Amino acid sequence: MTRADVIRIMCPNLGCQRVLAVPGSARGKLVRCRGCGSNIRIPAPRIDSGSIASAAEKTKGREAA
Ligand SMILES: [Zn+2]
Repeated sequence: MTRADVIRIMCPNLGCQRVLAVPGSARGKLVRCRGCGSNIRIPAPRIDSGSIASAAEKTKGREAA
């Protein structure tokens, strides 16, 4: 994982749909859309926790040896 990764997320507000670029450190947190002011939850796809890792494994499983 690169430290400087950026997450791009589209605002769920149908009247806005602004694409926001947030730092990877914002994963799992709420950010405010600069377009409409809505709070958007940033998904955390990869964390070293068992539950999320197993969920990802079901989806892709490319780490299986
Ligand atoms: Zn917005």
